[in-house]
Amino acid sequence: MTVIRGATTIPSDTPEEIRKAVKELLEQIESRNDLKRDEIVSLVFSSTSDIHSYYPAKAAREAGFASCSLFSAQEPEIDGGLPLCIRAMLFVGKNSDPKHVYLRGAKILRKDIAGKINIAIDGPAGSGKSTIAEMLARDYNILHLDTGAMYRACAYKADVEDEAAIVDLMKDVKLDVVFESGAQKTLLDGVDVSEDIRKPAVSMAASAVSKHPSVRMHMTEKQREIAGKMSCVLDGRDIGTFVLPEADFKFFLTASPRVRAKRRYDELVQKGYEVDFDELLTEIVRRDEQDSTRALAPLKRADDAVEIDTSDKSIEEVLSEVKKHIQENI
Ligand code: C5P
Repeated sequence: MTVIRGATTIPSDTPEEIRKAVKELLEQIESRNDLKRDEIVSLVFSSTSDIHSYYPAKAAREAGFASCSLFSAQEPEIDGGLPLCIRAMLFVGKNSDPKHVYLRGAKILRKDIAGKINIAIDGPAGSGKSTIAEMLARDYNILHLDTGAMYRACAYKADVEDEAAIVDLMKDVKLDVVFESGAQKTLLDGVDVSEDIRKPAVSMAASAVSKHPSVRMHMTEKQREIAGKMSCVLDGRDIGTFVLPEADFKFFLTASPRVRAKRRYDELVQKGYEVDFDELLTEIVRRDEQDSTRALAPLKRADDAVEIDTSDKSIEEVLSEVKKHIQENI
């Protein structure tokens, strides 16, 4: 007899999500353990107390796991426990080395198994790193730290070429990054500037500000402090190479300049800005050049980062590639 464990999470408590997650979990357990369905003797599920809408055992039967005995139970509420999680235990009628399967962040959130985790996502502007970092953080229920926002906030206030003045300003102005329902808000002296710093004019200014070593060291210190305390996904230019060279996972996203400029263009137009595509393209190329050639912590792929060219991929495809890599290597 072999006992195989598995766990997964659902984004919301609906029968559809439960069916989807249970099917995926059981199929992954089967394939990773080279199981035949009739070798499964019994299947036991437990789900966290925030799951009510459907029995995982029923979902398993509907997914074709009908010949074994099935049972579902609900766990009591545990303070600080993993939300919306379904755990499974399979009793299998053969002796083999079990490969336990943890999907959709279930293992990451099991502090006893994985502990704190830092994921670095670097890449040039418009490569998709912020979008992927945000989705990943939401799926894993961990923090997303958008480090670009910190440079943007600094540029928003400062005369970008005057390093000494910026250093003085950083002493006088309080830059805070706070998290509300998982989303990052950037505050300057208590004022929420999260939207203002996204204005096109701030992008080039942020790149100019970020080349000053004293500014970088100030931001790096803040970023390391946050990442030292909790699990998070950090996106930026130098996370894998400089801020957190020991990050557990590193990704470097790229895309052609044209594709990246088009993404930025669509994003800004949607927000109601009037922008010229060719100007945006020129700016993106200039910003890449400036970010890649600065002396301290330039934009660069870490040797041990997984590179993904996102030019012809959907957001879902990139996210699934990132998650697959994490899942297989955790
Ligand atoms: O990613 P985002 O476009 O918001 O970044 C704005 C600018 O901040 C970048 O062009 C880059 O110069 C700078 N930056 C950086 N290091 C980071 C994140 C952003 O130098 N980790």
